[in-house]
Amino acid sequence: MWETGPCTGTIGTPDVAELFEDLGLDILETADPALAHNRYIWKGDRLHPLPSSLVSGIQTPLFSWKDKLGILLEPFRPKGNDPEENLASFVKRRLGESILDYAVDPFVSGVYASTPEHVIPKYALPKLYALEEKHGSLILGSIHKMKEPKSERDKKASKKIFSAKGGLSILIETLAKNIGTENISLNAGNLCVSPKGNTFVVSCDGTEQSFTHVIFTGGANRITEACPFLLNRGIDNAFAVNYTKVMEVAVGFEKWEGRCLDGFGALVPSKEGRKILGALFLSSLFKNRAPKGGAMLSVFMGGKRHPEYLDLTDDEVFNIVKDELSSMLNLKDFRPDLFEITRHQNAIPMYDAATPGRQEGYSKAEEMFPGLLLGGNGIGGIGMADRIKQGKALATKLLQAHAR
Ligand SMILES: Cc1cc2nc3c(=O)[nH]c(=O)nc-3n(C[C@H](O)[C@H](O)[C@H](O)COP(=O)(O)OP(=O)(O)OC[C@H]3O[C@@H](n4cnc5c(N)ncnc54)[C@H](O)[C@@H]3O)c2cc1C
Repeated sequence: MWETGPCTGTIGTPDVAELFEDLGLDILETADPALAHNRYIWKGDRLHPLPSSLVSGIQTPLFSWKDKLGILLEPFRPKGNDPEENLASFVKRRLGESILDYAVDPFVSGVYASTPEHVIPKYALPKLYALEEKHGSLILGSIHKMKEPKSERDKKASKKIFSAKGGLSILIETLAKNIGTENISLNAGNLCVSPKGNTFVVSCDGTEQSFTHVIFTGGANRITEACPFLLNRGIDNAFAVNYTKVMEVAVGFEKWEGRCLDGFGALVPSKEGRKILGALFLSSLFKNRAPKGGAMLSVFMGGKRHPEYLDLTDDEVFNIVKDELSSMLNLKDFRPDLFEITRHQNAIPMYDAATPGRQEGYSKAEEMFPGLLLGGNGIGGIGMADRIKQGKALATKLLQAHAR
């Protein structure tokens, strides 16, 4: 069983926990925390565990001694003064270059398929940015956050890694059943929304219907295709968003003969110059992903650094994955029983300096056309937890408008 899009989410907001409570907790699958927190980083000629304690932090060969000792000085370092500072400069300034190269860079490749130079913490990682902004230090801010009292609702959020039993499509299928499949049109082609008086006419594949409200949650780059009336209103920049390209390769083995897959997965720092961004060990995290004794991996390639990889032929991709996995996971004989490639041409939107303009553009569009609500991964974060939170917020907004 394999995924072709997102593979795992974090129960990072109460909305995620509540969604599963609403749909039935029997579909929720969470990964064993001990395994999920065990993440590997490639350096030199092998994988090293990302340190998760003081002792492992001191012992790890991933970071330089200068940066390990320098952590003690982090609370005393001056606060930055550029709200649009990129993540590379932010981390170098607060934590040091080796931590940027061997912890943050692979994290950014793995989550955003981007580079720390292209990510602005204020927009992409607002919680991290707030630690320095409010407390002057990442360490002091984190300690303060841990001590903050939490409401019963906030306590539902955790670092737990989730999927659905049977894969993430089960989450969507269960949602659809709850909404009522008769209320959902799939594969809608030629979707076009146009305002008419106080309503919106939605046409799609030759049919037309009128609605008081329209919520659009496609990517920022698809909004004006569905809502052409938003063009030439001084907000075109909001919809001109860069999306990174990502290739996802599901690789399955009936019999696994490589190294022990005792963790979440392995990420590759760009300094190491390898051809994959990383691999997730999905069969270690979740049940029934591979036959007993086998393995199911999700390998990622491309991203901001190598968008050209998406143009490689399937054979070329196979050979790269073969070389990379064989050396990284000590596989002598690379003969997978399953090899599925998915190319995402518009995978992840960039939360760069254009982000505030985008948010402003969305708000202006909603003001100009009351009843129109814009969501999607162009605003509010890219992770599934962010998407679920936004979905709930949009639905609540609509219900409130309806009650008025
Ligand atoms: C390869 C990959 C791996 C990822 N891994 C993870 C992960 O492990 N964990 C995680 O939390 N996040 C992950 N993400 C990010 C996450 O998957 C996305 O941000 C999230 O799925 C976006 O959800 P969404 O509902 O906003 O948009 P989408 O899931 O993109 O849904 C938007 C839908 O709108 C439809 N649409 C758009 N325009 C139109 C139109 N004009 N007419 C009709 N339909 C239209 C699209 O076809 C699409 O079905 C990953 C993303 C990618 C690409």
